[in-house]
Amino acid sequence: MDTLAYDPDAREPGAPARAKSQLDLELRSIRKCYGSFTAVDGVSLQVEKGQFVCLLGPSGCGKTTTLRCVAGLEEPDDGGILIGGKEVTRDPPWQRDIAMMFQDFALFPHMTVARQVGFGLEMLKKPRAEIVQRVNQVLTSFEIASLADRKPASLSGGQRQRVALARAMITEPRILLLDEPIGALDYSLRETVMLELKLLQQRTGISFIWVTHDQNEAFSLGDLVVVMNHARIEQQGPPEEILQRPATAFVASFVQGNNVFHGKVTEILAGALWVETPVGAFVVPRPMTGPTPALGTAVSFSVRAELISDLGVERQVNRLSVRCTAVEYFGSVRRHVFARADGEVLKVDQFGAQAARIVPGQTVQLGWAADAGVLHAVSPDGQGTRL
Ligand code: ATP
Repeated sequence: MDTLAYDPDAREPGAPARAKSQLDLELRSIRKCYGSFTAVDGVSLQVEKGQFVCLLGPSGCGKTTTLRCVAGLEEPDDGGILIGGKEVTRDPPWQRDIAMMFQDFALFPHMTVARQVGFGLEMLKKPRAEIVQRVNQVLTSFEIASLADRKPASLSGGQRQRVALARAMITEPRILLLDEPIGALDYSLRETVMLELKLLQQRTGISFIWVTHDQNEAFSLGDLVVVMNHARIEQQGPPEEILQRPATAFVASFVQGNNVFHGKVTEILAGALWVETPVGAFVVPRPMTGPTPALGTAVSFSVRAELISDLGVERQVNRLSVRCTAVEYFGSVRRHVFARADGEVLKVDQFGAQAARIVPGQTVQLGWAADAGVLHAVSPDGQGTRL
């Protein structure tokens, strides 16, 4: 795709210049109920100008409802929504500086690509000549000019996706809301489309709020990843932070490659804690922020699969003897699955380039460093820590 000539700061003539530090979106403790069911519960979020934000979480956790509140398709029962610093909580969708792209693209079947793409400008009652010029520019920019006279039924999935994106972006919104935008595409197309969308987002400076339940999408695209569970935000931060320092047992188990342990604090050392679990006692660093749990407190912690090894175990303070049940080879990584005595599985990753050392059926001693574990906070809904 060529550069989409777009400067989000170039607003209508006479409009005041935006402060560079202004937030594109702010959610202030929004709540949305359907009857007695709470679909979104006290969600607060700040999206900086031009950020790529991914709302990630299991089915039914409230991602789409949150997005629909931002779009103005749902009205929150409580809380506030600000777009570009302006309160829009009760404003209709067309009075918000946003565009939305749905998973099924919601293209109009009877309209040609050119008409489809210009539809937003028609609704804004822009002059005909301006619409034609702008549509041509955007069709070229999205490399779909040759499809101008075609109708959606004759387009491939990837082409339909570009048309939907061009239609959403032609009105130059401040924020583009995308609900599982590549979920309908073939697996082979997804990586290319993801890269294109990321580059497009960076070039245009439009904030993207992208809903997905696919963590690969969220971690490879997002500047900010917001993990939701049971209508609330469990953790938000850059991908590295969510991956390396899961804040709760839910986040740790939802994110691939973590081993979660539940237990209680039995000893407090200068920089660490001893935690007694059903499969042994382990040393875990004290939390980097917040209070240290008291003796006897129920806690959980996680250790990433690549930080556990069968090598140099005698030097490690944390050790565990387990039986290997399966080995999966993914090319870059070889994943070993072990049966833990508490019925859970333990995952251990080894670089795929290394020779295989452990085979299914083998019982091995594994170890990890004292600083490898991450202690969790209790989940916002009180779940996630159990003995
Ligand atoms: P998915 O990934 O499956 O799309 P999600 O995280 O986007 O899930 P939402 O669509 O936001 O979840 O739904 C959150 C909860 O609210 C679900 O339990 C859903 O059934 C419920 N819900 C959503 N819309 C309505 C509605 N109009 N009426 C009643 N319940 C609703």
